[in-house]
Amino acid sequence: MKKKFDFAIVGGGLAGLTAALHLSQNGFQVVLFEKNSYPHHKVCGEYISNEVLPYLKSLGIDPFEKNARHINQIQITNHKGKIVQAALPLGGFGISRYCLDHFLYEKVKQQAEIQQETIFDIQFKETYFQLDALSKKQFQATYVIGAFGKRSNLDKALNRSFIQRKTPWLAVKAHYKASFPNDLVALHHFQGGYAGLSKVENNHVNCCYLVSNRVFAKYKNIDDFQEKELRKNPHLDLFLNEAKPVFEKPLTISQISFERKKPVVNHIFMIGDSASLIHPLCGNGMAMAIKSAKILSEVFIEDKNAIVSALEETYTSKWENEFSSRLQAGALLQKVVMNRNLLTTGMWLNRSSKKLIPYLISKTHGKPF
Ligand SMILES: Cc1cc2nc3c(=O)[nH]c(=O)nc-3n(C[C@H](O)[C@H](O)[C@H](O)COP(=O)(O)OP(=O)(O)OC[C@H]3O[C@@H](n4cnc5c(N)ncnc54)[C@H](O)[C@@H]3O)c2cc1C
Repeated sequence: MKKKFDFAIVGGGLAGLTAALHLSQNGFQVVLFEKNSYPHHKVCGEYISNEVLPYLKSLGIDPFEKNARHINQIQITNHKGKIVQAALPLGGFGISRYCLDHFLYEKVKQQAEIQQETIFDIQFKETYFQLDALSKKQFQATYVIGAFGKRSNLDKALNRSFIQRKTPWLAVKAHYKASFPNDLVALHHFQGGYAGLSKVENNHVNCCYLVSNRVFAKYKNIDDFQEKELRKNPHLDLFLNEAKPVFEKPLTISQISFERKKPVVNHIFMIGDSASLIHPLCGNGMAMAIKSAKILSEVFIEDKNAIVSALEETYTSKWENEFSSRLQAGALLQKVVMNRNLLTTGMWLNRSSKKLIPYLISKTHGKPF
């Protein structure tokens, strides 16, 4: 007879790994599926809000053991190089996903089962779920947690509406050797997007940018784009003059959707980006992924014997309470920061923005948890 797990978690990014840790520490039998091997790099700005620290520490994870960098300043520049700098309301830290996800993976594998598998089908069978992997293996679990990120083959299998629509965004990330302040995250605007720069644990500088397909399509490739468009911002020009790439070539992802999704689909509990992705310049997607894993784990721990419809209702309402207004504020922040007219006239890159920026950022962040 096949082993039946309490929870099958599909996706081993920050959301899935955190939920696996929390649930298994509370006595549940957990299996986590991740299609890639660890460690691996991911397209991400790699600035993470301090709000996660108390919770991560309660799970036995201290990012500063891995030399994460304290970051407490934000700088925003327009394409002409005009700067505004402010203190980050809560601050955060810089650590690569290569390091952080692997750190969590090492902890999870001591207490839960991890399978390197791509799940392609999840069927609800009234009292349990059946999961089918590309390897042809089948697994069974009482509950399934969807932690498969912003875009997955499973979104197609589940016929989720956002996956039917094309989106105008693409993102590029690479690490560099360069001199850069330890405590700063810089957001440099250029036509069609912005690039974030900040340090990670090994002193490398993460450069991650989001750009519209429309603008990127004018250039031959990433090098051409960086040379001719990114360098128009004098701060990026200065950075690229000195920076030595660490990766053979940058990582890219496309079709990034910021559409609102549902936190429960076909009785699958969604966490992290599978439940919705906040605009990356808020620097809060990772904290939201971790927090949603906490909220869901607590729903199950607090009421082990509740019927599934009650669990779904409780999770949906807690998720909406925690994240709805943050997602709205994130969309607004994106509009303000990406508005070329505002940036060109420098209307908000003045003294009042020293207050406005921390205010807008605080609206997209939660309190330490
Ligand atoms: C350009 C950009 C920059 C960003 N910068 C920041 C930042 O600086 N700070 C911040 O806080 N947030 C940032 N974010 C957001 C952040 O990266 C995400 O919110 C976070 O990674 C969400 O974690 P997750 O666990 O939900 O998803 P992921 O980390 O994407 O993990 C999902 C996992 O599921 C696996 N998977 C998918 N399908 C399957 C399947 N069928 N079977 C098995 N495994 C599967 C994938 O391989 C993946 O490992 C950024 C996002 C973008 C796009």
